[in-house]
Amino acid sequence: MKENKGLVFDIQSYSVHDGPGCRTLVFLSGCPLRCQWCANPEGWEYRRRPMLRMSKCVHLSQGCTRCLRACPFEAISRYSDGTGIMINWTICASCETMECTEACLHEALVVCGKWISESELMRILNRDRNFWGARGGVTFSGGEPFLQRDFILAVLKKCKEAYIHTAVETTAYTDRDFLLQAMKYIDFAFIDIKHMDPERHKEKTGVTNEIILANIVALVTSHWPGRLVIRMPVIEGFNDSEDNIIATADFMKKVGLKEINLLPFHRLGESKWRQLGMDYPYSEKEGIPEEVLGPLQDIFLERDILCYVGHDTPF
Ligand code: SF4
Ligand code: SF4
Repeated sequence: MKENKGLVFDIQSYSVHDGPGCRTLVFLSGCPLRCQWCANPEGWEYRRRPMLRMSKCVHLSQGCTRCLRACPFEAISRYSDGTGIMINWTICASCETMECTEACLHEALVVCGKWISESELMRILNRDRNFWGARGGVTFSGGEPFLQRDFILAVLKKCKEAYIHTAVETTAYTDRDFLLQAMKYIDFAFIDIKHMDPERHKEKTGVTNEIILANIVALVTSHWPGRLVIRMPVIEGFNDSEDNIIATADFMKKVGLKEINLLPFHRLGESKWRQLGMDYPYSEKEGIPEEVLGPLQDIFLERDILCYVGHDTPF
C-alpha cells in the first residue's frame, strides 16, 4: 500500500516540556498563522527552504565562494563593501533544488525541512519509546500539525495501534470535522489562545480568532476524553492587559476549561528569522521574567482555573 509522506522540519527526542513525561517532538511544516513572535518561523511554509547561518560561513575568513558558483539563479552575491555574502530570498522562494546547500561544506547553508514516510517516523518513535518512561510518548507540533492531514491522521492511527501516548500542540485554526476526527487518536492537547479580541488577534497572527475559539468549544462539547491545556504566549503590550486576561479566563470558565499555561515572551527564535532572511519584529523587546506574571496567574486562580507559569511546567 502506498505510504503518505510528511514534511517535518525537526524531530527532537527527550523533551520534558511538551506533554506528560519524556517525549519525542515531531515538528511538521506549514502553518496558517504568522505570529510575530514565532520561535519556529522555519515551520511556516509547507516547503523545503534554505537557511543561512552567517556565523558558520567562511566567505570572509577563507574566501569561500562555493555557494555563489553553485546557485544556477545567481541568487547569492557579495556585499559591495566586502562585508560578506547576501541572498536574494525572493529568488530562493521558488527554488526546489537548493544546490547552494550541497555546495556549502561548512553547514552555513542548510535545507530546512525533510520528507519522511509514515514507517520511517514510526521507526524513530519505536526507537525512542525505550526512553519515554511510563508517562511519555510523542508530541506533534509545528507549524500547525493538522495542516498535513493525510499524513498526521495515518501516523496517529499507527501510534494508537502501537499503544503510544499522543499529544499535539495545535493552533486549532483548522477544519472542525478534521480536528474532531484527529483528536480521537490524541490523548493530550495544547491549544493556544493568543488574544480574545478578533481584530487584535489578526493584527499579530494574520488571522482572527473565531475559528479557534469555536473549535475549542466544539472539542469540549464533543466529550473528547483527553486532557486539554490552553496555552498563552504572554506578549507585553499585546495580550497582557487585565481586560484580555479576564476575558480569556471568563471564556475558559464558561466553556469548562480547567488548565492554562502562561508562557512569557522570549527571543529564542530571533536568530532563525535572520537565517531565513526575515526581519524579526520584536528585536527591541526584552523577554518577560516569569515572576511578573503573578497578577495574571491570580486572575485564573480566582476562577478555579489551574494556571501554570513558564516553559518548565511538568505535565
Ligand atoms: S536556494 Fe536555490 S536560488 Fe537560493 S541560493 Fe540556493 S540554489 Fe540559489
Ligand atoms: S558555501 Fe557556505 S561557507 Fe562558503 S560562502 Fe557559501 S555559505 Fe559561506
